[in-house]
Amino acid sequence: MAVNTEAYLEINAQLKAKNVTLVAVSKTKPVADIQELYDQGHRDFGENYVQELAEKQVVLPNDIRWHFIGHLQSNKVKYIAPFVHLIHGVDSYKLLLEIDKQARKFDRVIHCLLQVHVAQEETKFGFNELELMEVMDAIHKYKLLNELRNVEVRGLMGMASFTDDMEQVSKEFKYLKLLFDHCAGLPWNTQFDTLSMGMSSDYQLAIEEGSNLVRIGSLLFGARL
Ligand SMILES: *Cc1c(COP(=O)(O)O)cnc(C)c1O
Repeated sequence: MAVNTEAYLEINAQLKAKNVTLVAVSKTKPVADIQELYDQGHRDFGENYVQELAEKQVVLPNDIRWHFIGHLQSNKVKYIAPFVHLIHGVDSYKLLLEIDKQARKFDRVIHCLLQVHVAQEETKFGFNELELMEVMDAIHKYKLLNELRNVEVRGLMGMASFTDDMEQVSKEFKYLKLLFDHCAGLPWNTQFDTLSMGMSSDYQLAIEEGSNLVRIGSLLFGARL
């Protein structure tokens, strides 16, 4: 049995009590595993790859809230635009415009998070602080012109460094929370309420530092190969 139902029930109860959303990260895992947590009442699932998500979506129940948590290429937005619940990793202005365009075709408003680079590794995607402020400013200006009507930027997402040094991880989460509070405090920014940070190895720390959405895979579905 691959799904750790016991861990799920425990983590889910713990997060519910703290009003933290649990996204069960099911990438590379079979549809049967997702169905198993669905049958326990779970509805929020996260996937990293467009094709895999599209294939799973058609065979699984319609009331699943699908979170896209991977790196999204502009030319693939159209495949998930009809149904995606929240896109976590928006890391360019161009991508945001494309999401807006595709969402309009389906007469939807797609909720997004801007990805911020807080880790030490060079390889992780995301805006730095200055770029984040620029993109927030640009969004504001477009909204004033009554454009970008089919996207709503609901918050920030980030990943801490891949390290055992929990002091470092904590520092990165604190920094992300600081940026989140700053953006949420902008007077025009009324729907900015989601801070997606924390995974299997660091979600407890992330919550202590102010996360209200965690993305957990291996603790629930077992290690990925
Ligand atoms: C895979 C992944 C997760 C889940 O990682 P675990 O360590 O298995 O909990 C969370 N967030 C993102 C962006 C991921 O790619």
